[in-house]
Amino acid sequence: MQVPFSGGCTCGAIRYECSSIPAFSWNCHCQDCQRASGSAFCPVLYVPRMALTIRGKSKYYDVRVESGNKVSRGFCPECGAPVFIQAELVPDLQGLWASSLDDPSQFQPSIQVWTRSAQPWDCLHPTLPRVEKAPTEKQMHELLTPRK
Ligand SMILES: [Zn+2]
Ligand SMILES: [Zn+2]
Repeated sequence: MQVPFSGGCTCGAIRYECSSIPAFSWNCHCQDCQRASGSAFCPVLYVPRMALTIRGKSKYYDVRVESGNKVSRGFCPECGAPVFIQAELVPDLQGLWASSLDDPSQFQPSIQVWTRSAQPWDCLHPTLPRVEKAPTEKQMHELLTPRK
């Protein structure tokens, strides 16, 4: 992924720029992501908070998700577009919805999680590793360790 990269909501009230490559990127198929997205799954990239510059004010909605962790989803109060995700699991990182990128084709998920909750009409990625539920601590550690 090329840095810096930028993105925002549909109406332009929220804009962000990021100076770091993502720490990890995934497709989450949990039921909560389905409800929040109105679709089959959430494609999200997580970046270091420090690397992110945000303009505009998002509205946040907190939920306790299937794994028991708290997740806050940030969306634009004007157009309703989902832009941000903050997960208790990774407090130093900020999640960005892939669809909010100015160039969403740059998104490169490395894993798909909560595939057990995927709908029968969902299309899972044919080659990406699958995790049935939330990733374990070990899987999370592997995800966050840069590959050589
Ligand atoms: Zn907006
Ligand atoms: Zn999810």
